[in-house]
Amino acid sequence: MKRDYYEILEISRNATAAEIKKAYRKKAIQYHPDKNPGDKVAEEKFKEAAEAYEILSDPDKKARYDQFGHQAFEGAGGFGGAHHMNMDDIFSQFGDIFGDIFGGGFSTQGRNQSHRAPRSRGADLRVKLKITLEDIIKGGEKKIKIKRKVKASGTTYQTCHQCGGSGQIARVTNTIFGRMQTTGTCHICGGTGQVLQSRGAGSDAHGMVSKEDIVSINLPKGVRNGVQLRVGGKGNEAPGANGIPGDLIVQLVEQSDNKFKREGNNLHYDLYISIPEAVLGTDKILKTPHGKIKLHLEPGTQSGKILRLKHKGVPDLDGYGSGDLLINVNIWVPKKLDKDQAEFFKQNFEHPNFQPNPGKSEKSFFEKIHDMFS
Ligand SMILES: [Zn+2]
Repeated sequence: MKRDYYEILEISRNATAAEIKKAYRKKAIQYHPDKNPGDKVAEEKFKEAAEAYEILSDPDKKARYDQFGHQAFEGAGGFGGAHHMNMDDIFSQFGDIFGDIFGGGFSTQGRNQSHRAPRSRGADLRVKLKITLEDIIKGGEKKIKIKRKVKASGTTYQTCHQCGGSGQIARVTNTIFGRMQTTGTCHICGGTGQVLQSRGAGSDAHGMVSKEDIVSINLPKGVRNGVQLRVGGKGNEAPGANGIPGDLIVQLVEQSDNKFKREGNNLHYDLYISIPEAVLGTDKILKTPHGKIKLHLEPGTQSGKILRLKHKGVPDLDGYGSGDLLINVNIWVPKKLDKDQAEFFKQNFEHPNFQPNPGKSEKSFFEKIHDMFS
């Protein structure tokens, strides 16, 4: 059972971004591996706090967590989120936080013998992807063409002479507490520990080029407008031999369908039939995103009748079945009649068979809607 992220950081659900950051720092110091060598419980707590901070410090992820809890990041086709992080991820991602407290040197100096190379991370890329109702119902693979920065072929890097590859520069400052040694990011390599040795053909000042790439994503069924899918490592690459690429964030833009109107997981369709079809009954073939469906209309079908086709709507994103397809029957009244047709209606103007006489089986429109959802 996963613990609540707010509980882990011991903050209220209304905590501000600054309070979240402060609470995480406190936990990070308390459970830092250098302060608790060999303590597995402390290490777990350290990771747990890092995971909570990763979610709560990101407004998109926080909003999803607030709405859906841990479920927001489980199942349903690989949303990025609360994966179990390893120590290197934590140190590289939250370097700024440790940097503030420990002067940056903490994560490299204090830790065991093996020297951890600094890593820079490439920028995330954001793209919008238009999706149709059929995409939403069927899900599956979609291919997206993107342009991302990659290291040019022929680009090579060497160890930064300024910081010796650590990415950090030590500084001694005098404070009211006495002399303090702090470390800051190396201004020559920008903290990557590496500088350009030779630039590949056509590359920019960092040895990078823009490259077209086709990324395939797995679209979960039942997605909505605005849902974001994260593809790890498909953002821009970072310069340097140890750089890790950013992510590709795909924002889904739902195209409205001109035949089927979506309402939650239900679909609505306006069916028009002629007066003879309504009077005599008919069969209709309807093309839906689920395939062709045969509709049977009884003789004497009333306008406003709603046919409900169970599970022919949109699959639920969280896997709770499917919505329904609701067919609203409309009877088309002709605006032009020839002489004989007009004569037929005139003759029947007063005929009892044509007089409206709604009985119990012809409920009002609102009663029908109520039945549907009750
Ligand atoms: Zn450097």
